[in-house]
Amino acid sequence: MDPLARASVAAAALTALSAAAAPSDPAHRTVTVVRTSPTLASDMSAVCPAGTLPDFDQCIPIPDDVPTGSSLDLVGERNVHRDRSGRWITYEQIPKLPDRPADYDSYRYPVPPPESGHFAVSGYDLDRPDNEQRRGSRLSHTGHGAVDLMHTRGTEVRTLPLEHQQGDAEVLFVGKLFGISVVTRHTLREGGRLRDYIVLYGHLDASAEGIAPGMIAREGDLLGYVGDTGSEGIVHLHLEVRQVRDNIDPADLRNQNVVRNQTTIPCDPRNVLPLK
Ligand SMILES: [Zn+2]
Repeated sequence: MDPLARASVAAAALTALSAAAAPSDPAHRTVTVVRTSPTLASDMSAVCPAGTLPDFDQCIPIPDDVPTGSSLDLVGERNVHRDRSGRWITYEQIPKLPDRPADYDSYRYPVPPPESGHFAVSGYDLDRPDNEQRRGSRLSHTGHGAVDLMHTRGTEVRTLPLEHQQGDAEVLFVGKLFGISVVTRHTLREGGRLRDYIVLYGHLDASAEGIAPGMIAREGDLLGYVGDTGSEGIVHLHLEVRQVRDNIDPADLRNQNVVRNQTTIPCDPRNVLPLK
């Protein structure tokens, strides 16, 4: 089967998985998204003079290389969904900012774009109402905090700097997480401060030979190869971005903790992926 046909079969499989959604409870159909962490920083925005941004209780000059705009401050919001056992779960997530394009084709990725058509088949939905989130009999979790990119097995996955990134990324984790996975850490300048994000590359055929936690990942460095470990029969790259919570030591993220909500918050990848 040629790669395009294979991609469409796999896309159909994912759609089928999504379509097997459990019936929603009408009583909970309307989900109120509550903005959390009403930080001191947001209170300060009214008092900081032009050319500065609030950073806790201070006004910090805006660095030259950072444009002003809402994309500087990615704040977690609460949402709820039903898990597989039917329980309502409240969780934190960072929705796409309104000024970021909705079209996944507008962004650059750690894998080359397809020769034609689209390759983003399942996007970020943790900001949506429960009945619009992905679930299915073969899926262990409700919702999808990532974007799935259909690609040919063995396609190289290479380090891609995120928007407003400062310095090089670092390899945090190599091993089993979402199938064979690699995780990198990226420091971004955001809202006049530095904030760490992690990028998870899941379902790899294999990680790149020789990579290990602690290594620097420069733009274009090989991280691994697209595959279907942990998603047998559906060859794709699961690309997940998470914001590291404050006061978390990166050394504590070099294991499965890296995707736990106590340490990192799922973030719509469109907030930080570079635009084409
Ligand atoms: Zn995925």
